[in-house]
Amino acid sequence: MQRVYLDNNATTPVLPEVFEAMRPYFGEHFGNASSIHHHGQETRAAVERARESVAGLLGCQASEIVFTSGGTEADNLAIFGMMSGVASPSHVITSTVEHHAVLNACKQLEGLGCDVTYLPVDGQGQVDPQDVRQALRPSTRLITVMMANNETGVLQPVEEIGKIAAEAGVRFHTDAVQAAGKVAIDVGRIRCDLLTISGHKIHGPQGVGALYVKKGMQLRPMLYGGSHERSRRAGTENVPGIVALGKAAAVARQGLENGGDRTMAAMRDRLQAAVLEKLEATGVNGGGVDRVPNTTNIYFDHIEGEALVIALDLKGLAVSTGAACSSGAIEPSHVLTAMGLPPDRARASIRFSLGKQNTAEDVDFAISLIPEMVGRLRELSPLGKAVLGKH
Ligand code: PLP
Repeated sequence: MQRVYLDNNATTPVLPEVFEAMRPYFGEHFGNASSIHHHGQETRAAVERARESVAGLLGCQASEIVFTSGGTEADNLAIFGMMSGVASPSHVITSTVEHHAVLNACKQLEGLGCDVTYLPVDGQGQVDPQDVRQALRPSTRLITVMMANNETGVLQPVEEIGKIAAEAGVRFHTDAVQAAGKVAIDVGRIRCDLLTISGHKIHGPQGVGALYVKKGMQLRPMLYGGSHERSRRAGTENVPGIVALGKAAAVARQGLENGGDRTMAAMRDRLQAAVLEKLEATGVNGGGVDRVPNTTNIYFDHIEGEALVIALDLKGLAVSTGAACSSGAIEPSHVLTAMGLPPDRARASIRFSLGKQNTAEDVDFAISLIPEMVGRLRELSPLGKAVLGKH
């Protein structure tokens, strides 16, 4: 059975060249990067080469990169590293559409007595930089607003936010997990102090990520142990993972230099246009503003998104909804509801996200399947039948 994977914002396959780069570090080169003998020096050198490569993707110095166990840890390190031990009153500004790695960290901060402002977004999913400016207080210590949204791909005006933060002397963190490798990132242009990336969203392995920490910034560590990562993240380095992240960053950088982002956007746009053309009562969530090139989030009124995900999966196409299942009930996505979508439309929305492994044939396969499956589900839905006049 043909299987096509269009859920690359959930995770991406490790590219063959990335796998080949990491493979020797499971066997031949197994040393602890903190050991002073030959074995340790070999892996230390590999870790430092990977650090250079990640820094190259982000436009920073290698010494400003801290390796972590992934995006969630990097987000948490940015937020708690900045905020723990800060005298009250203290205040953080974030947005309602952040990933839970940021949202739940902020909720935890509130429990510790910190004030958090959750900025709204407009109908396209963007934060208004003027809202950031207006939310500033004398006690504001941190602004954390993501670069690209995982559900819609919508890009936030991070350069404008970075400028506001710099003028106010407030630290700025951006979660760039879904932006890295898809759009060019330059921490100097964004003027951010902290920036998160994750290996498995850029064709590296799961369980490795990095935090950019601007030179001179004091962060409280979250883990106590050895003095790894310049005492910013204790624990023996995940050498194969870090080597793979370095390789994935190099591949991502090369892809951007070679216009891979434009090819990706063309594939995404073809998929989107074909679906919209063939189906009525559909539309793109966040389609009116700049997005990362691999993502489109489409609503199909009068169906349940979860039902469509399952129907497509049975035919070999893997996609996803942003919905979360809590206590047996399907909650509409917090991102789409923050954008003002009614719950039914939010539940009827599906995310399609492409990766480097996807081909034009994959897109053809999706285009051949989606209208048919949506049509069938609408046939089964009394509302769909009535509204769309199908009998
Ligand atoms: N931030 C964003 C925007 C994400 O999409 C994700 C993963 O889906 C994360 C953070 C968490 O990264 P990780 O899975 O590496 O912990």
